[in-house]
Amino acid sequence: MAALRVAVIGSGPSGSYSAQLLTEESEAPIEVDVFERLPAPFGLVRYGVAPDHPRIKSITTSFAEVFEETPGVRFLGNVLVGKDITLDEMRAHYDAVVFATGAPLDRSLGIPGEDLEGVHAVREFVSWYGGHPDSDPQSFALTGQRAVVIGVGNVALDAARMLMLSVEELRATDVPEHIVNAFAASSFREVVIVGRRGPAFAKFTNKEFLEFLEVESCDVIVDPADLELSAEEQAHLDSDPAAKRLFSSFKKAVDRGVLGRDRRVRFVFDRSPVELLGENGAVTAIRLTQTTDPAVTETLETQLVLRSVGYRGKALVGLPFNETTHTVPHVESRVHDGDGVVDGVYIAGWIKRGPTGVVGTNRRCALDTVTSLLEDVSAPGRVSTASTAADVDDLLESRGVHVVDWAAWKTIDAAEVAAGESVGRERVKLHDRDEMLRVARGNGMDAR
Ligand SMILES: Cc1cc2nc3c(=O)[nH]c(=O)nc-3n(C[C@H](O)[C@H](O)[C@H](O)COP(=O)(O)OP(=O)(O)OC[C@H]3O[C@@H](n4cnc5c(N)ncnc54)[C@H](O)[C@@H]3O)c2cc1C
Repeated sequence: MAALRVAVIGSGPSGSYSAQLLTEESEAPIEVDVFERLPAPFGLVRYGVAPDHPRIKSITTSFAEVFEETPGVRFLGNVLVGKDITLDEMRAHYDAVVFATGAPLDRSLGIPGEDLEGVHAVREFVSWYGGHPDSDPQSFALTGQRAVVIGVGNVALDAARMLMLSVEELRATDVPEHIVNAFAASSFREVVIVGRRGPAFAKFTNKEFLEFLEVESCDVIVDPADLELSAEEQAHLDSDPAAKRLFSSFKKAVDRGVLGRDRRVRFVFDRSPVELLGENGAVTAIRLTQTTDPAVTETLETQLVLRSVGYRGKALVGLPFNETTHTVPHVESRVHDGDGVVDGVYIAGWIKRGPTGVVGTNRRCALDTVTSLLEDVSAPGRVSTASTAADVDDLLESRGVHVVDWAAWKTIDAAEVAAGESVGRERVKLHDRDEMLRVARGNGMDAR
């Protein structure tokens, strides 16, 4: 019996879980090729999850087992689906294709001044400190005194915490050495986190907020006046235990008071940004209004503004796309173009659900996808028209695509560990795509 052949596009959590679950759940023999546009696997676990969260990042050990220990699963890194191989070609070569491409864009604030130098999507900042191969190592100089982060989710806290960590704390992470040096030279002493609503409605998880209270070099400042609750806020806390826990942590911060530390993070609630002001093309201040009384405005001097108001999905060539939700429309994970299901094409993860949920949420999501897919391919009378792994390899080779397979990735991985050892750190990420590819060529690249 010929093996079922499935292509998964994207090696983040939803792609990795999809590959794992396909092999676990399929009753028929199965081959899964996981395509990844970067020379490294794991998506946002490698390039989004904060570097000082090693416990969450350690999920990569179990994702790696999928590629290392599951017969029939291959990693094809450095392949951009849509350019190096088209969707139509994918559909011709595989019985089914799962898009697990995430949400790589960001939302904007829609206020004047967003194009000023020093105003960035938090995604750009995260990609930079995470050493994402698409980000320019020089993109952040960190010269200024006050940074402003707009948004009250965990990603906003991650970005603020990174600006506040000490060099010792940063050296315990895997961020590239030049990024540690940039943070070491940073002159920022204050980060202001701005929320549109009151603390009762903040989206941080309690655990992440409490972590801030542990950052040794940093004061955490919450205005006690912000903890006076409206009836609506009180009702919200009464109905939402997570919000209540977080709120009591804000109280803890107020009770701790100001300890006179070198750096500080300040939470400002019930404010909306209305304008970014600049001089010579660079941001110098942000104007905020009180959400409860828009006539009241204030201006905060700042040299760095990070908008952390959500990631956003990107349309994929050949697939339908909902421009409102920025996701690919589907029915039970089967891509749907408005007229009907697109045969053999499925979605999982953030491109399906939008940018919400933690890493583990993607397992449940991928299971739904895999269940629909396996149901379809095992339908009575269905005949496979898939080609072979060698055909796909030949196609990519004929186009001069240098595939980073698992062995080649392991070479990059080992080079990062070695680079870490040389400077007394556990690991130092390679930031530059060309360097990663040079290292990969040393062993395994194109070996397939
Ligand atoms: C800054 C940040 C911090 C986070 N921190 C945490 C945390 O601490 N704990 C937690 O549980 N969750 C955290 N999350 C959430 C978690 O990262 C997501 O739930 C998860 O990564 C979504 O998985 P995904 O596979 O859908 O997308 P992604 O992880 O984005 O993976 C998509 C992959 O597809 C690849 N790809 C895209 N297009 C193509 C193409 N055309 N061809 C080939 N490959 C392609 C991308 O390169 C990428 O590797 C965080 C998210 C962010 C943004």
